[in-house]
Amino acid sequence: MENKYALVLVNIKGLGVKTFSYIIPDDMKDIIQIGQAVLVPFGRQGLIQAFVVGFSNYLPEEIKAKKINKIIDTTQLFNLEYLKLLEWVANYYMTDFVTVLNMAIPLKLLDKSSRTEDYIEFVSSEKATKRQKEILDILKEKGKTKLIDFEKEVKTTRTTIKKLIDLGCIKLTTDEIYRNPLQIFEQKVEPLYELSGEQKEVYVKIRDKINSDNKFPILLHGVTASGKTEVYFKLIKNTLDKGKNVLFLAPEIALASQLTKRLTKKFGINEVAIWHSSISEGERYDVWQKINRNEIRILAGARSAVFAPLKNIGLIIIDEEHESAYKQNNPAPRYDAKVIAEKLAEFHNSPIILGSATPDIVSYYKAKNSGTLFELMHRFNNVPMAKTSIINMQEHKRSAYKGTISKILETEIKETLEKNQQVIILVNRRGFSTFTQCQSCGTVLECPNCAIPMVWHTDEQVFKCHYCGQKMSFPDECPECGSNALHNTGLGIQKVEILIKEMFPDARIARLDSDVLIRKNEHIKLLEKFQEKEIDILIGTQMVAKGLDNPNVTLVGVISADASFNLPDFRAPERGFQLLTQVAGRVGRGEFTGKVLFQTYNPEFYALESAKEQDYSDFYKTEITAREDFDYPPFSKIIRLILSADNQFRTEKSAMEIALRLRTLVDKFGIKEKLEVLGPTECVIGRINGKYRYQILIKNKIEAKGHAFISKFLAQMTVPKDIKLAVDVDPLDIL
Ligand code: ADP
Ligand code: ZN
Ligand code: ZN
Repeated sequence: MENKYALVLVNIKGLGVKTFSYIIPDDMKDIIQIGQAVLVPFGRQGLIQAFVVGFSNYLPEEIKAKKINKIIDTTQLFNLEYLKLLEWVANYYMTDFVTVLNMAIPLKLLDKSSRTEDYIEFVSSEKATKRQKEILDILKEKGKTKLIDFEKEVKTTRTTIKKLIDLGCIKLTTDEIYRNPLQIFEQKVEPLYELSGEQKEVYVKIRDKINSDNKFPILLHGVTASGKTEVYFKLIKNTLDKGKNVLFLAPEIALASQLTKRLTKKFGINEVAIWHSSISEGERYDVWQKINRNEIRILAGARSAVFAPLKNIGLIIIDEEHESAYKQNNPAPRYDAKVIAEKLAEFHNSPIILGSATPDIVSYYKAKNSGTLFELMHRFNNVPMAKTSIINMQEHKRSAYKGTISKILETEIKETLEKNQQVIILVNRRGFSTFTQCQSCGTVLECPNCAIPMVWHTDEQVFKCHYCGQKMSFPDECPECGSNALHNTGLGIQKVEILIKEMFPDARIARLDSDVLIRKNEHIKLLEKFQEKEIDILIGTQMVAKGLDNPNVTLVGVISADASFNLPDFRAPERGFQLLTQVAGRVGRGEFTGKVLFQTYNPEFYALESAKEQDYSDFYKTEITAREDFDYPPFSKIIRLILSADNQFRTEKSAMEIALRLRTLVDKFGIKEKLEVLGPTECVIGRINGKYRYQILIKNKIEAKGHAFISKFLAQMTVPKDIKLAVDVDPLDIL
């Protein structure tokens, strides 16, 4: 049956999911489909972008429909289920539907000029031999197929092809060259490993759980190097055998590409694709098309991959589920890929597995109480955990090198290097120092835009603000009193780097933090060099704590192990514990046992003690009690309202008004104990980028009801034009 009208969603904010009807011109009738982008005339705004979401044959009489102007692209960008998911996201995160749509669907896809549908280009080269030219001709004939079985179809070896790539006769996109060009031609897959006893036991339990009920998410808590990935692989295999597809998320791009390599080896290059925010437009378009044709069986990616329209999902895996990178902080929607993945799983009736060595307290609590917790308590091959000690710097400071590197750590580094083994040093603070103070009047140099100290970066000889990026040179004198007594205080990674280089002048030392990552993929390259033993000592921020599986690392030293615990945030102990346990897990993964040293001025802190023992359950017990005492998650869900503006007084006043109205309302409904309103208070960082900041925290203890209540309250509330109100549902920090 032919339809006369198309229902479209116009790409304009504030209209929610309201649809408009347009006449389908005759020449479009055969090609128009749900999920296509079109151009439509819309009031005074002229032609605007819209999406087809349905069809009908009737219109209410009073409506005079106009014609669709053009189908921008025939590609089906989404289906109705997908739209439902986005609608859910918009509601849950209390943002506008179109904002979510624009974030989820890479509309740049529609820009034809940026497409590179063909990955491999065959060009002749003078340098190629006669035989190689013959091969090129066959390749050209094979045309635009990305994957060719060289041995069978072209009757040549991979070495010849590699030669041709080197000669410049075959071109690939940079992404693929990076991913190792030869892999692209690799059709054979390796068999999965035989699981160990403990792995097998857990695998069977999870498999049976998946087959018996649908209580999800499942949490796989496995100590570092227990071989969680191998367990996932078995489950993936089962899913593929059932004819279903798999979505596999990793917290960041570097880990997602590592994972993709591993997946490709086991499941084949044709079947696996990667998706994250910085793949090229060409590759994204290509993957999108393949997903549409249902050719992708396993999609790996970072958080944005949760919006890739993968079909027929039969398993979702979220590795390192505790990582805060799953949550988008800015801009809105401040979504958490983990939360959305759970919803996605529900839509597809698919199991979802979260995995971590240091699970999020909330995930662990839920899994423990719903019988969906599975644990791997031993490392693969029963490799022992590293021996961990705490160095109390109050006792060791005087003998430490420049008061910073303890004698014990120095000796251990020396011995490790002598054995030709490798060292990781964690310093979770960028820059040279932590603040700069005038010795004469006490003034601390602050960012002119933000209420936080400027941090001296000795590499570039500038002060940097870690919040707004403002830079400034070292002033000749104190801006307050004019004396020349400005002094860098506190310990940053650049200072540690200098000290270690002084102590070990012959060692190959590299630093990994966001300040050295100027070039794209620099991060991955540095880690690869470390993996290849081209670096002896890797000094880094939290970036070195993740994912490294290098059996030659036998020493981890942490400088200022207490640094992460001291933030005024209820998640600080959890973050600190996770970081220390994860970094300790980098050591002794091979045949050599390892050592971990935590230097600290605060040795008694419970989370540090648990991290030393690498005892998650010990940490969990203490932490969950504290959360319960203060009604923090999982005993409530937090909604955070942040008001910011140029004028401090108006910001505070506005925040007070909102809090007052909200309090009056919850009081009226008799739910003030269940929907607790805290504040307003000035944010811990009271000013960022010139804007003053106040916050209201809402502890919601009545789940969906409370959520709907706040949502409704916010929908009918307006704030003055000069004030910005940001809503953060389930915030990961409250700074
Ligand atoms: P996790 O994800 O738990 O930290 P991985 O899955 O990365 O651990 O496993 C750690 C190392 O042990 C990897 O190098 C992996 O290849 C190896 N490994 C794990 N399980 C097996 C197995 N059953 N057979 C062979 N190697 C394994
Ligand atoms: Zn001064
Ligand atoms: Zn700043």
